[in-house]
Amino acid sequence: MGSRETPAERRRKGPRFGANFMSVLEVSRELVCLCGEGLVIDINSAGIAMLGAENGEQVVGRAFRNLVGGDYAGVIDDLLHLKEIEDSAFPIKIVHLDGGTFEAELQIHPARELGPAYAVVTARDISRQGHLARTARHSEDRFQALVERSMHLVLLCHGGRIGYINATGVKVLGGNDPSQFVGIPVSEIFAGEYREIVASDLPALLDEGGVVPMRLARLDGSAFDAQIKATPLPSRGAAPEYMVEARDITGQIRAVAALRHMNDTLEQQVVARTHELAEERFRAVEARAFVESLLEAVPNPLWWKDIDGRYLGYNGAFRELHQISATDWVGRTTAEMVNAEFAAISAKADVKALADTGRIQFEAHLEVAPEKALDVVVNKTVWRARDKRPEGVIGVMLDITERKRMEAELRRLATTDVLTGIFNRRHFMEMARNEVDRARRHGRPMVALMLDIDHFKRINDTYGHPVGDVAIKALADVCTEIVRHEDVLGRLGGEEFAIVLTETDLDGALLVAERLRLAVAAIRIPAEQGIVAFTTSIGVAERLETDTTIDSMLSRADMALYSAKRSGRNKVAVG
Ligand code: GH3
Ligand code: MG
Ligand code: MG
Repeated sequence: MGSRETPAERRRKGPRFGANFMSVLEVSRELVCLCGEGLVIDINSAGIAMLGAENGEQVVGRAFRNLVGGDYAGVIDDLLHLKEIEDSAFPIKIVHLDGGTFEAELQIHPARELGPAYAVVTARDISRQGHLARTARHSEDRFQALVERSMHLVLLCHGGRIGYINATGVKVLGGNDPSQFVGIPVSEIFAGEYREIVASDLPALLDEGGVVPMRLARLDGSAFDAQIKATPLPSRGAAPEYMVEARDITGQIRAVAALRHMNDTLEQQVVARTHELAEERFRAVEARAFVESLLEAVPNPLWWKDIDGRYLGYNGAFRELHQISATDWVGRTTAEMVNAEFAAISAKADVKALADTGRIQFEAHLEVAPEKALDVVVNKTVWRARDKRPEGVIGVMLDITERKRMEAELRRLATTDVLTGIFNRRHFMEMARNEVDRARRHGRPMVALMLDIDHFKRINDTYGHPVGDVAIKALADVCTEIVRHEDVLGRLGGEEFAIVLTETDLDGALLVAERLRLAVAAIRIPAEQGIVAFTTSIGVAERLETDTTIDSMLSRADMALYSAKRSGRNKVAVG
């Protein structure tokens, strides 16, 4: 087809139309028609279809200019009358018979061989291409809008110079109009050494393909960090075209720096804390050593047990007391290790301390060896965890064996008569009073005896005071031997004695009194001047219902004693 020939070729050859050319052009898919004097003389089938006609008659005879829309109608007439020649095809709107239009590329070929104002017109429907072009233009607009509104710098480069820069790009580079950047070498927007890299080795940058961190320069000379991505574009010309995108990462870098700083600070804190912990541990070790020394320094046996009563540890005094090593008793209970009586009291105290006040004190008898028993005071304190939960019991022991002995001795001294070893008057009276109360409570019989050595002054006078003392002692011994353990015997003063016979009626008491009288009379004391013998008078008084105290009984017994003396001495008399 002639339309594929260049205008130069066509000019050189020129179309030659014969009489049957229309039947040949029937094969064309383009509109082909023969015009004479501007009127359509003949048209091919493709043309009839394009114009929306049903057959050739509807078109033939029409003025071609009426098939052309708008301003071109006049120009077309001139061209068809061969007043002007246009070698190239030109776009035009063809009007359908129904009034609609479509875009076409029209070419008018002079056909003078057929007549002076004859021309062959070809028209190619380019409405499809037009639509594509519009679509392309539209999507380019859309693309442009997107790029313009991008949050990042976007620029297009042509031959190393900026051809386009978006609004964000202008802003981040410190400008106010794209014209400040368009036309300048793209390397100008890079800072420092990056400027040279971009200027000299842009292809290398493009080859990276990915995102490269670089520094960009603002118009005022200041710089900022950015991530750069350069993408080569399909280029029509020889100069390379590419798109450069840049994202300001100052914020991220600041965030990273802050993060790094935070991390460093954190690391420092960890180091400091580790140091602190080490020191704490050291102090803890020191504290433990101190406490251990302290415990060892305590002269009293000291131990600590867990909540189940098992020994956890004890000090040197405790080891010495029980003759054990530092581990012998660890894990054992008191019940396993000491006398049952002590263990029972101790366990009860532990329970009470744990349940109650947290502290307790008790006294107990501790057998530390088969033949060695101690009187001890034990102080116990519950020890607790930080959350106040009891962990166990700490005990400390005080050996009070000696104190106990002294206490007993003092008590004995306070209650007994030094010469005879029996109760003194004060203690006898106290004991006797208790016995009266008891006998009264239970309605039991009871008898009081009063004894007085006969003519004692003579003994003193004849043999001396010390022998008198021996006689007093001898009588006390005889009485001690004869009365029962539950009876109460005391020296009231001088050579006077009193006895309370418990659970005893008058008859029983008279038997005891008689036995006493005889036993005293049987006493023989060797002295320088010879053997000393003496007798005693005894007054007996049974407890009556009217007796509320020992005093009334002793008063009656004393009266009986007096009557025994009067009736000759060495007698028993009942009051
Ligand atoms: P009677 O048969 O009437 O009791 O005559 P008696 O000499 O025993 O008289 P009385 O009971 O009044 O005398 C008590 C004497 O005992 C008076 C005192 O010198 C003496 N005497 C008192 N206490 C002691 C003592 O602790 N030791 C000695 N050796 N004599 C004492
Ligand atoms: Mg007397
Ligand atoms: Mg006397």
